[in-house]
Amino acid sequence: MPADTQHYLDAMQRFAADLVAIRRDIHHHPELGFAENRTSDLVAERLEAWGFQVERGIGKTGLVGQLRCGDGPKRLGLRADMDALPIEERTGLPHSSCHPGVMHACGHDGHTAMLLGAARYLAQTRRFNGTLNLIFQPAEENFGGARRMLDEGLFERYPCDSVFAMHNMPGYPTGKLVFRDGAMMASSDYVTVTVTGVGGHGSSPHHGRDSVVAAASIVMALQTLVSRNVSPFDLGVVTVGAIHGGAASNVIPEKVTLEISVRAMSAEVRALLEQRIKELIDGQSRSFGVQAEVEYRRGYPVLINTPRETQFARETALALLGPDEVIEQGAGRSGSEDFAYMLEECPGSYLFIGNGTGKSTPMLHNPRYDFNDEVLVRGAAYWACLTERFLA
Ligand SMILES: [Zn+2]
Ligand SMILES: [Zn+2]
Repeated sequence: MPADTQHYLDAMQRFAADLVAIRRDIHHHPELGFAENRTSDLVAERLEAWGFQVERGIGKTGLVGQLRCGDGPKRLGLRADMDALPIEERTGLPHSSCHPGVMHACGHDGHTAMLLGAARYLAQTRRFNGTLNLIFQPAEENFGGARRMLDEGLFERYPCDSVFAMHNMPGYPTGKLVFRDGAMMASSDYVTVTVTGVGGHGSSPHHGRDSVVAAASIVMALQTLVSRNVSPFDLGVVTVGAIHGGAASNVIPEKVTLEISVRAMSAEVRALLEQRIKELIDGQSRSFGVQAEVEYRRGYPVLINTPRETQFARETALALLGPDEVIEQGAGRSGSEDFAYMLEECPGSYLFIGNGTGKSTPMLHNPRYDFNDEVLVRGAAYWACLTERFLA
């Protein structure tokens, strides 16, 4: 391990017990998106005690802690997410959720704790020159808390030259830091299709227009989009996750609805899928003589890491940990992340920190998942090191 950066890890190790306590406290009190009241209270109290200027209520429960040192003009943004998921926890751990049906199953408890660890260190040492903005966002899961913070003027009120974020990832060895140039997480769009035919008696299909048969044909035809329209070298996913219609075997229902999830790894594929889904459903419904209403809702965009910032983040990890602990160009993933909205407005990079491998490390959003406390010190030391290098 490089000697000149070892002090970050040594210093953070002295906070280890406190980091674990904070992480488990947040885990024990999980809160859903835009309801992170206790969590944001905890974060704000800590930041204020360490001398940060704190502004609450950006994106309802979101907050920013700012610390300035020296007269340097550079401005750095670091983001952590604070929300939990509507999952019934089944870890059986002493610090497991005290709220039935709500659980930190994505490790945002750990992300918040790691950024607080860095905040404490940086406030004590104050060895940087410039402006540090710590962004604690609400509602990363589904509700677009980052989007809402941006809509409420996050980067106008707290301009940043670059912004960085970290997410834990089961399946990578404990504490391994994983970087990627370009697209790292997929876009996520939602489509509701309402197929309307003419209902009637099941014995006399010729008097009706069968919405079930039309919907079934649409489901099958949708499977050709990724295989026949998207390049074999690009990622696309079209999943029909729900189909609802009918109530009895002898009734042809008037309406069937489909719920579809659409993922892509580039803006081009995303646009192509949207266009082709609409065209295909239009053509299919015409051929069956039914109506189809398509409600296409764009969710999180593709998360795209900018090259210069990713290289900087990667070099920081190499300086801190050496090459054995760093994956310089990891694989992209088909999940999505609303930090993508921040990267649309500010250059930056997103990285993974390994949560461990093997059967005993469940995947994210699993009811047996738990953030790996062993990585808290390393994650917090990484943020401290990155800050001092960026605001040198
Ligand atoms: Zn998640
Ligand atoms: Zn997450």
